[in-house]
Amino acid sequence: MSTVTLTTGLTLRDVVLTYPDGDRRLTALDRVSLSVAPGELTAVVGPSGSGKSSLLAVASTLLRPDSGQVLIAGADAGALSPRQATALRRDRVGIVFQQPNLLASLTALEQLLVVENLRGGRARAAHGRAERLLASVGIADGKQYRRPHQLSGGERQRVNIARALFAEPSVLLVDEPTSALDHERGAQIVELLADVTRDYATATVMVTHDRALLDRADQVLEMVDGYLG
Ligand code: ADP
Ligand code: MG
Repeated sequence: MSTVTLTTGLTLRDVVLTYPDGDRRLTALDRVSLSVAPGELTAVVGPSGSGKSSLLAVASTLLRPDSGQVLIAGADAGALSPRQATALRRDRVGIVFQQPNLLASLTALEQLLVVENLRGGRARAAHGRAERLLASVGIADGKQYRRPHQLSGGERQRVNIARALFAEPSVLLVDEPTSALDHERGAQIVELLADVTRDYATATVMVTHDRALLDRADQVLEMVDGYLG
């Protein structure tokens, strides 16, 4: 197995992704290349259907491209077995999906802890770390013990972001984080993403169709019909 270790952060090289489309194939990503360094927030803007979610699916190793390379924290995802790719995704990639996918019956704190099967001292250490992480995204003063329906939309998105960061990923992928929020709360979430990108040194890709929120991004790329430029 050849795992390249020349790069950190996230690199895509000449990635092509197609989907079946009747008798033909639809090209969702057309020779897409992208490089995001640790601590850098890259925004990808483009209309609905331009391939933004497909880009994140490939960057997270959830989908394997038809051709091209995906490097995550120096590891060549295409050279990994499915089991190794799953481990890479679990250990190195934090994903914030477009739909809030918190579990209704769990508190904010439990949303973070549920991903680990914990006992004894490790559970206590993880509990403390989860509380500190939630506080760093503004979920504190008892809010960490609330369930999703007892939190606002912006607070639920903060919990989502904290959960994605809990495994200390190298790469943070965020799909339309502000689509369910008003402008002010949306702007606060983008501020938060810029802050956590710096504080936790993640290579962050945030996709959005909202151009009003891009001033905190280090790099803004446009996606049109599967092309990124
Ligand atoms: P965006 O996130 O920018 O809205 P997507 O990546 O979801 O764009 O979609 C890009 C293109 O790929 C669209 O034409 C969409 O209809 C198509 N597409 C997305 N997912 C699938 C799929 N699972 N099967 C077939 N076509 C898909
Ligand atoms: Mg999408």
